[in-house]
Amino acid sequence: MVQQQQLKGKVALVTGGGSGIGRGAALRLAEHGAYVCVIDRERERAEIVREEIVHGGGEAVAVEADVSNADSLRSAVVHAAERWGRLDIVFANAGINGTWTTIEDLMEEDWDRTIDINLKGTFLTLKYSIPYLKRQGGSVIITSSVNGNRIFSNIGASAYSTSKAGQVAFMQMAALELAEFGIRVNAICPGAIKTNIGQNTNRTAEAEAAAIPVEFPEGSSPLEHHAGSPEQVADLVLFLASPQSSLITGTKVYIDGAESLLKG
Ligand code: NAD
Repeated sequence: MVQQQQLKGKVALVTGGGSGIGRGAALRLAEHGAYVCVIDRERERAEIVREEIVHGGGEAVAVEADVSNADSLRSAVVHAAERWGRLDIVFANAGINGTWTTIEDLMEEDWDRTIDINLKGTFLTLKYSIPYLKRQGGSVIITSSVNGNRIFSNIGASAYSTSKAGQVAFMQMAALELAEFGIRVNAICPGAIKTNIGQNTNRTAEAEAAAIPVEFPEGSSPLEHHAGSPEQVADLVLFLASPQSSLITGTKVYIDGAESLLKG
């Protein structure tokens, strides 16, 4: 069990921290004593989460940055690390669904945008965090997805699934490369989680119709209405960030109530 306040004195950076899974994790890490840098491209969202943390007795800063923009992200990471003089936990979580359509119809700029934010953004987040993590070791958690790992039935999700599969390959390389510095790197693969991500989705009617619907056999899943909560994901992020998971690195962890076993 993760003990209260055991992250006291640790500094955590959460990208996409202004909403959904990132917000849930930022609040949970702060509850357990971490100082949290909430990074989001939407300044207001990040600010609200910062206020929630401070209201709960924690410490946080909010920084507006786009994870796909190297200059913007580098200054955000430096801001976080210099603010408290260290960086221990990195949650590379910001992501978008992007445009869901057939490969034939997918525009090159839509492909680039999804890959830039989901995959290059993960690379940039690690790249600029590593010099600080190396000083004392740490834990990196990357939000991948069941999509691109177990599920390939969402026709139209080629860019998204590719970005999410790429994140896992990148995570494994990073885990190998950074083990000697005491830096662990893992990926989480959520199934459907109730967040705002759907609002950014631009699936065509055809792609929507082509997606293969799967129903759970009655009572076979712990998930209510087939979707989990950001708080449930936050518990996993907390575990992977804490010393209780000290032997876990280079691994992807599914958090989907076994939905992807049925669907994949
Ligand atoms: P969300 O839309 O609720 O939150 C994502 C946050 O990331 C938003 O606040 C958004 O402003 C921010 N963001 C988007 N692009 C950004 C950028 N370029 N730079 C900085 N911030 C940016 O969505 P969520 O569901 O919490 O998604 C978080 C992660 O979880 C994503 O990587 C997503 O692919 C992954 N995921 C979500 C689900 C789900 O069902 N919700 C399932 C599997 C994986």
